[in-house]
Amino acid sequence: RTVRFSLSPLVSIRYNSLYFPTGATPMKTTKPGSIFIISAASGTGKTTLVSRVIANHPEIRVSVSHTTRAPRGGEIPGQHYHFIDPTKFEQLISEGAFLEYAMVYGNYYGTSIEGVKMLQDSGFDVILEIDVQGAQQVRRNLPEAVGIFILPPSFQVLAERLHGRGTDEPEVIEKRLNKARSEIEQSLLFDYVVVNDDLVQAEMDLVHIIKSHRLTQPQQQRFIENLLENS
Ligand code: 5GP
Repeated sequence: RTVRFSLSPLVSIRYNSLYFPTGATPMKTTKPGSIFIISAASGTGKTTLVSRVIANHPEIRVSVSHTTRAPRGGEIPGQHYHFIDPTKFEQLISEGAFLEYAMVYGNYYGTSIEGVKMLQDSGFDVILEIDVQGAQQVRRNLPEAVGIFILPPSFQVLAERLHGRGTDEPEVIEKRLNKARSEIEQSLLFDYVVVNDDLVQAEMDLVHIIKSHRLTQPQQQRFIENLLENS
């Protein structure tokens, strides 16, 4: 069972004050990166897809979440997750450290405001690979974040992929497929939808979305200002 928590309205204030401390004018040197929320139903291949994007595009990074779940075999602290205990996690919640957080199957997961901001300030575009509920929280706090939903090409393919993993019993797979239906309905709330049929094509689609966002007028504002200042 998944239990969700509502966010403190202070989060966006905190985020903005981190961005623009009182009295400070934003620097006009490095252009801060944008935030891309990537969500999908389980079995859609989201993690593989995001790994490929970041491996092939060094200017795009993925935010490393905090979690209270134990590391799985092969997971590296600080690379896959920041593994912390529940007391520390709750302390971070009370300090307003998270852009969004949730409890999934008895473990906390959260996106650190400071972690995301550090990457953005260094000019990286930042991917948040989080679930649909977390995605909604981020959009409430940061309406400028871009939402991308990854879809399977069909339910048949999704079922085949879940069976192919060989990790779940048929009734568990049935539950996942039912959950996938309700998760896919949430795709209506996202800006972009990418179908993960062919992995290479889906990777290209994701990269195109990220790159074309860099060329939108608001993203080019800093360049326009510099151009005019030096005219
Ligand atoms: P896992 O334990 O398998 O790595 O992740 C379980 C679920 O938690 C996945 O759906 C994953 O996308 C989601 N998740 C991972 N990090 C975060 C986070 O920071 N926030 C939220 N809301 N979900 C997360």
